[in-house]
Amino acid sequence: MAAEVKNPYYKVKTPYLVNFNIPYSCVVCGNPPAPGLEWKVEGNKSSWNGKSRTTLSLKFPICQECYKVSRDKKLASFLTILGALLAMGQCLLLPSVLNSGLFKDPTLGFATSWMIFIILLFLVRWLGNAVNQKGFTPEQRELRKRVKRCARILSFNSPSRSEINGAILFRFENPAFATKFSISNFGLLESTKIG
Ligand SMILES: [Zn+2]
Repeated sequence: MAAEVKNPYYKVKTPYLVNFNIPYSCVVCGNPPAPGLEWKVEGNKSSWNGKSRTTLSLKFPICQECYKVSRDKKLASFLTILGALLAMGQCLLLPSVLNSGLFKDPTLGFATSWMIFIILLFLVRWLGNAVNQKGFTPEQRELRKRVKRCARILSFNSPSRSEINGAILFRFENPAFATKFSISNFGLLESTKIG
């Protein structure tokens, strides 16, 4: 397997704003965005006791080409659900299999069930990718990966006594977009080469 290429990315720290000034260019490639198309990015945070969860989401403009390769096909979603059900189903069957005496050693039964579970998950992931990228050129495959990585919300904190304006930490891969986003939202831009 080829070593994974580390891509440079850009961190932008902004205050905890209610409304963001979103640059009008594709968040992935910088081309003019397609009207009405959006790439949704979500950040999640659990409370200290894990009882509540806060979600912060933002929509970025995306161009037609990037949007097209980012879509998941219905068949792929169906396969993922089917695979998850199969994986869970075989776990539920485990007690009966163990009782049937098929495995002399129950540990071996558990190990086999666990292995089937992992293999199923891998298989489903692989199949899903194959379905979603069917007919893609190598460039489109690469672009799909870029779309999935283009923007992330790494962390966020609402205003508090220690941080009056609060803070949201974003991660972008497109340097021009990161710069524009940072400038228009009172941000601090930090670039890094480590993936
Ligand atoms: Zn694009």
